[in-house]
This record gives sequence, C-alpha cells and structure tokens, in this order.
Amino acid sequence: MRLRKLLLLAPILFINLAEPIFAQDIGYARSCIKTLCSDNFYGRGYVNNGDKIAAQFIKDEFIHHKLTGLGENYFQHLGYPVIYYPERVDIELDGQTAFAGHDFILNPGCPKVNGTFKVLHVDSSMLDNNSEFEKLSKRNLKNTFLVVDEVKGKNLLHQDRAKLILSNGIKAKGLIFKNNATLIWSPAMEFATFPIIYFKKGILPQLVLKMTVKIDANFKVHGTQNVLGMIKGKVQPDSFIVFTAHYDHLGMLGKEAMFPGANDNASGVAMMLDLARHYAKNPPPYSVLFIAFAGEEIGLIGSYYFVENPLIPLKKISLLINMDLMATGDEGLTAVNATVFPDLFENLKMCNTLGNYLPNIAPRGKAQNSDHYYFSEAGVPAFFFYLRGNYHHYHDVDDTYEELTLSKYKEAFQLILDFANMRMSK
Ligand SMILES: [Zn+2]
Repeated sequence: MRLRKLLLLAPILFINLAEPIFAQDIGYARSCIKTLCSDNFYGRGYVNNGDKIAAQFIKDEFIHHKLTGLGENYFQHLGYPVIYYPERVDIELDGQTAFAGHDFILNPGCPKVNGTFKVLHVDSSMLDNNSEFEKLSKRNLKNTFLVVDEVKGKNLLHQDRAKLILSNGIKAKGLIFKNNATLIWSPAMEFATFPIIYFKKGILPQLVLKMTVKIDANFKVHGTQNVLGMIKGKVQPDSFIVFTAHYDHLGMLGKEAMFPGANDNASGVAMMLDLARHYAKNPPPYSVLFIAFAGEEIGLIGSYYFVENPLIPLKKISLLINMDLMATGDEGLTAVNATVFPDLFENLKMCNTLGNYLPNIAPRGKAQNSDHYYFSEAGVPAFFFYLRGNYHHYHDVDDTYEELTLSKYKEAFQLILDFANMRMSK
C-alpha cells in the first residue's frame, strides 16, 4: 500500500521538479550582463563616460519594458569628486613592460608619477629597530621606491604599518608591495599622499636597476546619475517594493586595463532588469520601483544621495531588496540586515524552503557594504542579498562575463520574487 502510494506520487513529484521556473528570463539577464561588461562600457567608471553609457542603457531597458520614469526623465543627477586614470599607467622594470591590472595595481587615489626610479628592498624588521630606521631616514631616497618585505619583520607587517615608514620621516618616492596574491583596486575621491605599487607575485625581480613609471592621475568633479523606473501598483499604489542594484564599477586604469565588473555588479543590474521585465507583464498590487545606483564603489554615494533626496516618501517603502554580486549561488544566499529585520528574514527562509531554491540562506547583521545601508539607517525595511559560490574574482580585471555561470540565477530570481510577492499579499 505504501509502496503503491509512493509510486502514484512519483510522477507528480517528477513533474514538479522538472517544471522550469518561468518567471525569469536568464537569456535576457545574460545579454544584459554581456552588454554592461563589453568594451564599449569602459568598466562603467570614470573614463570615456563609462558610467553614463551604462545609465543610458538601463534607461533604455526601462523604456523598453514601459516603466514610468522618476526624476528628470528617469535620471536623478548628482556629482562627487573622483581621481581617475584616463591616459598612461605604465611601468617598465629594466626595460620590461609590466601591465596595469594584470601585473600590478595602484593604491586607490595614487598620485601622478613620472620618472625613472631606483628600487630598494627594506626588511620590515627595520621598523622595530631605531638605529636602522634612523640610518635610512638620513638617506636621500626621493628617487627611490622601497620594496617592503611584509614577512621578515618581528611582527607580520600590516600594510598600514608599512606606510608609517614614509609618514615617519623616510623621504622615499613611494612603496612597493609584492606579496599580494590578487590585484584588487578601488576608486577614490582624493589623492593618496604617496604612490604604492602592488606587484603580482613573480613580476618584480629580486634585483631591479631602474624602474620607469608614468602614471597620469587626474582629478574631476564627476557628474553622474541614479536611474529610476516604476510600475504603478494595481491595489495599493501608495505602497512600494523597491529593487536596487548599483551599476557603476571601477572603470579603467590607464588606456588598457578595464574592470568589467561582471559579478560586481552587472549581475545585480541584470536581475533587477529581469524583475522589471517580469512585473511589467504581471502588474503587482503595490507599486514597484527599480533604482540603478551610481557611485557605489567609491562609497555608496548614489544611494546616500537618494535617501537624502528621496523621490518617493521613504515611509511608504514596505520592503527594499538590494542585489549586488548575484552571479553564483551554489553555496546559497547571504541576507545582510537579517538580524535587524528577523521576522522578514523568517519569511525569506520560508519562501526558500517552500520553493526548495537555494542550499542555504545565511543571516548577517548590519553592514555598511552596499546600497541598502542608508535606507535601513533611515528606518526602511531593507536587505542586501548576495549569492555565494565558487567565484573568486572581485574588483579585478578578470571579473568578466565569460567567467560567470549564473548557476543558481533562476532559483535566486524566483526566491526574491516569492519574497517580494509575499510582502505585497499581506
Ligand atoms: Zn558591488
């Protein structure tokens, strides 16, 4: 009897499991990511109007899905200072070219450098030895970069501590680190006090006679924009569900090195656009607002600006979901602010269990690490979701479209949809 029952159930179970998840359109998401990461978008940063080109693309998609624009014709304009590198970022080591992004990276806000320099290795134990330190501070090192060995000192030398060498009276041109395994970069709003060059392991020879460096660093006040599209609610148009994703990334470091930002955050923008496509076809009970934020990488500027100058009343936001790093999911999803909004987090877990979507939903506390932050600080129920999996490119030139699998895209999309729809059904 039991066996018979099981056999009867089996085909039904099979049908349920095999049924594709129709709401999403992974093909559309892929094409959005591919476009956002293409050479024509220049890494969505500060060189060649990269972020403006991306903003226009997102606006065109909103128009294509027949979303209503907010702000000035879908844009909310803002500006902030930025250091950027549109021209040369070149290094030669005894005549051998090292390539920006691949062989070396600069510190955020690295100032202009132009010249030929000596390279001197210093042992980090020197920091613990006053007389050695004194000797070095008496030398004329203004045409010398110091290679700081991070492991030989008494204390494992943290980079901030190494920087003390220069700020404590040793007048070298700059620092070199060579123990960094990955070449991670970030934009900055102001110049750093001295240049730091991080070479990938194996690139800087033990003996370098001369290093030629040409770094064209520029400053500007960058005009940019958040991009906003809305679908009006059928039942309660004054209540809002908000989906957000930052579209900016690091841009270019010189003429060659581009940071495509596929996982960070073309993936989140693509999921947001796919949600816009879905809700445009399936009008929701609440109004749904989609915001693609500018200026996240340089310090959450776009979302901060929106919270300070909201285009809808913040009190009317019933739920905000910020998506950033959405290309994996084999290890599950992390919900930042889970401990701030425990009841909503329970609903999220319930949606995941009912739909059997992702292997794990991990709670995380408050964190100032993406565009949800200023919303929840202002009292808006806001989460930041990111997917976890076997993907290790972050803020480097290899975070490319080709590297992404989107292995749990469909499941994550459906989970987010179920969670938002549950909020709208209360
Ligand atoms: Zn990001």
